[in-house]
Amino acid sequence: MRKKIVAGNWKMHTTPDEGLTLARQVMETAHANEHREVIFFAPFVHLTTLQKEVSVSPFFSVGAQNCSNHEKGAFTGEVAAFMLRSIDVSWVLVGHSERRQYYHENHTILKQKVDQALSQQLLVMFCCGETLDQRMEGNFREVIRKQLEESLFHLDATQMNQVAIAYEPVWAIGTGQTATPDQAQEVHAFIRELIKQKYGDGVAARVRIVYGGSVKPDNAKDLFNKPDIDGGLVGGASLNALDFVTIIHAAE
Ligand code: PEP
Repeated sequence: MRKKIVAGNWKMHTTPDEGLTLARQVMETAHANEHREVIFFAPFVHLTTLQKEVSVSPFFSVGAQNCSNHEKGAFTGEVAAFMLRSIDVSWVLVGHSERRQYYHENHTILKQKVDQALSQQLLVMFCCGETLDQRMEGNFREVIRKQLEESLFHLDATQMNQVAIAYEPVWAIGTGQTATPDQAQEVHAFIRELIKQKYGDGVAARVRIVYGGSVKPDNAKDLFNKPDIDGGLVGGASLNALDFVTIIHAAE
């Protein structure tokens, strides 16, 4: 049985104090459950303090929203995977559509980021998903296949066990327009099939594939009940403790 993941992506919101308050509220209210884990993907300046707070619980962990594609050196403004490792951050988000769109992160850069993260024993949540145009044109499966093949499928099976995948249709992120549970399930099953073809049944059965795109308290349960949807990556609703806790509880 795959452990469900509910991850909050705080994006570029909240001060470190506000983030700490939010995390405390969530941790105090959410029921502990060994069949799911909760991740806070917080801005870099939150991570040291947040990690200390969250490390007391086995059900919660902290992730960075990005890391450099380089190991170290003259890359002003970047944060390297080894720095995240040094403060015991568990996860790093790679390939979010906002990074692809606004910071021009292409397949090659994302592949390098995946490698950097794994070389420092960080767990990777790798985002993939199609734009509205790509869905309308009907070639979204090819788009997703390419995103996975170009940035992820160079990994060996052991490395793949350190990766979770977030299917995030770009047209559903921050728009209030959610993929229906059936639409999402269809793509999740497709992604799992790609993993099976590449890595075999065992890896495909183990890899967690979470859905992201306007997950809210009122749609989370229907999404998470689908057989190939192993939880959610939640943006806007993760900034409200009550909403986020309701979403966490939907992942049974
Ligand atoms: C996200 O940031 O990954 C996301 C899915 O955002 P939202 O839930 O706001 O659509």
